[in-house]
Amino acid sequence: MTTLITGGTVVTAEGTVAADVLVAGEKIAAVLARDLTGEPGGPPADAPAAEAADRVIDATGKYVLPGGIDVHTHMEMPFGGTFAVDTFETGTRAAAWGGTTTIIDFAVQAKGTSLLATLDKWHAKADGNCAIDYGFHMIVSDVNDTTLKEMDACVAAGVNSFKMFMAYPGVFYATDGEILLAMQQAARLGATICMHAENGIAIDELVAQALAAGRTDPVNHGLTRPPELEGEATSRAIALAKITGCPLYIVHLSASQALEAVAEARDTGQNVFAETCPQYLYLSLDDLARPDFEGAKYVCSPPLRPKEHQDSLWRGLRTNDLSVVSTDHCPFCFKDQKQLGRGDFAKIPNGIPGVEHRMDLLHQGVVAGRLTLPRWVEVTSTTPARMFGLYPRKGVIAAGSDADIVIYDPQAKQTLSVATHHMNVDYSAYEGWELTGKVTSTLSRGRVVVDDGQYAGAAGHGTFLPRGLNQYLL
Ligand SMILES: [Zn+2]
Repeated sequence: MTTLITGGTVVTAEGTVAADVLVAGEKIAAVLARDLTGEPGGPPADAPAAEAADRVIDATGKYVLPGGIDVHTHMEMPFGGTFAVDTFETGTRAAAWGGTTTIIDFAVQAKGTSLLATLDKWHAKADGNCAIDYGFHMIVSDVNDTTLKEMDACVAAGVNSFKMFMAYPGVFYATDGEILLAMQQAARLGATICMHAENGIAIDELVAQALAAGRTDPVNHGLTRPPELEGEATSRAIALAKITGCPLYIVHLSASQALEAVAEARDTGQNVFAETCPQYLYLSLDDLARPDFEGAKYVCSPPLRPKEHQDSLWRGLRTNDLSVVSTDHCPFCFKDQKQLGRGDFAKIPNGIPGVEHRMDLLHQGVVAGRLTLPRWVEVTSTTPARMFGLYPRKGVIAAGSDADIVIYDPQAKQTLSVATHHMNVDYSAYEGWELTGKVTSTLSRGRVVVDDGQYAGAAGHGTFLPRGLNQYLL
């Protein structure tokens, strides 16, 4: 099966080029740059003839992008006695609608269980259910001799990034000593530690004080997790990474204090990286303060920040102190699940749905002149691929790469809404937002998954991706 994508503008992290793209089977066979008359160059001798393609997709006036890579999702994640409502099936389908063709989700070690048994469990959840390809990070919530040894086997199984928490005492929280031990082991393996950097011990005291004083509304979730405690934890994680020689990746960075710490570490040449998420670029503490418990829809951790943090995050994306935009997609329904925290904000399940809208929301950064077109592709696809050992199989439009391709109409208008989104959750954090740009078609390993606005994918098409090491390490 060969497919020819004609007439579009191929956008990669390097720039844009008018080119046709020839797909053979699951791979890109050739990128055929068009000359000034619009004629494509001939394919290399070993590629199939373009004019004989089984299928032609007209991408005139559209962008042809490498499929988006969302390295931070939580499908079916257990949290506070409930589960994130997107399954691997519904979540990956929604991702495809929004131009994301790879997710890296988190396997969650429960205390007292083994990492390898956890990995098996997550394979069982995802296997046969995904519309697009997927990999796993491993959440290490129980550091002991056995789990430290098991990190070797995880790396051998293609899971070489381990997430730890400086927040959530009693659940995922790791002490500085435990973090140190895991970082030493990760450094030996060349693996990356992904860190949720908030000072959970101090936060829990502030939460207890707020509840005791009768401050129970959702906005207190934000007020009891001040940005200084993200900055402090980020600095502490960087120090521990420095003395252990461990590559460190700060997840869902939200505060300018944390960004300053990351920028300083990067300036000294340390292997420190960070991602942010659309909710921190666009939403704020004002949303958490919405009346009638509506603020619960916006409870995530770290919390949404006062608006003034947003400019520094956009600047960080531009200067590469923030290298990746992921979603931290973790959907809980407003009707049944978020209500668990009525009268006690600390019981609101933490998470915002977003896997479907990351590419579109970041495209607004291009429209507004905050990001260049290649940088949009870089932070949503190419860098994620390199950071988590998937490049050049993923993250680029080039001969030999997987044919994960998005055809994107930069002029199309769309309005985000729960009425039209495909995520399995009963609200949109961006209800009524009018955006410019929309996915027309999405290909995953050569298969058309979204076909000119129609879903054409299938559960089980997506395969597990064993990953190599972080490709930014010296
Ligand atoms: Zn997360």
